[in-house]
Amino acid sequence: MVFLKCRQKDCTNKTVFKENYCFIHTKNKEKLTNEIHDYIKKNKIIKNLNFAFVPFDNIDFSKKEIIFSRFYKCSFKNANFSKTSLYSSFFDFTDLENSDFSSSSIRFVVFGGANLNNTNFSEVNVFSSNFIGAQIENTKFKDADLSYSRFIGAKIKNTTFYNCNLKKAYFQNMNFDDLSIKTSNYQEAILKDCCNGDTKIKGYIE
Ligand SMILES: [Zn+2]
Repeated sequence: MVFLKCRQKDCTNKTVFKENYCFIHTKNKEKLTNEIHDYIKKNKIIKNLNFAFVPFDNIDFSKKEIIFSRFYKCSFKNANFSKTSLYSSFFDFTDLENSDFSSSSIRFVVFGGANLNNTNFSEVNVFSSNFIGAQIENTKFKDADLSYSRFIGAKIKNTTFYNCNLKKAYFQNMNFDDLSIKTSNYQEAILKDCCNGDTKIKGYIE
């Protein structure tokens, strides 16, 4: 994943999509946004592309394959990632509020600092992905494999991990609700300062 530097003097951003400038320094943002949305619509495989700062609210990514791509600070409100395959891509500091990841496959993906409020992670396969510092409120993790994923410093509230595989998932300062405790294998997770209500809980220690 190597992207060229924006041609604007003193700009350290990378070039967006197939342009010579980053999105911020693109003159006709509306035209480019439409071109990118059209490209997404027509292509099943989205690979080796930088989309940093591009708006994607309400866009349908379902059943697509997203590989080695970068979506830094993009907005994805109400976006559809159902049955999408995401591999080795960056969604850091994105706004994914109300988006849908149900039945998706997520491997080596970074959601650091992202807003994942009211998102749907039902029947997902998440492997070795990073939710460091993400905001996760009123989110549904159901029948999800979250093994080897890291939730360090994530702000998780009103969120249940129902029937999830938490093997070697890393949680810190997390308060698991009763349903998560009853239905998921938190004992196999790596837990740092985690609790169930007022009770401190212990996970797997290497
Ligand atoms: Zn630039």
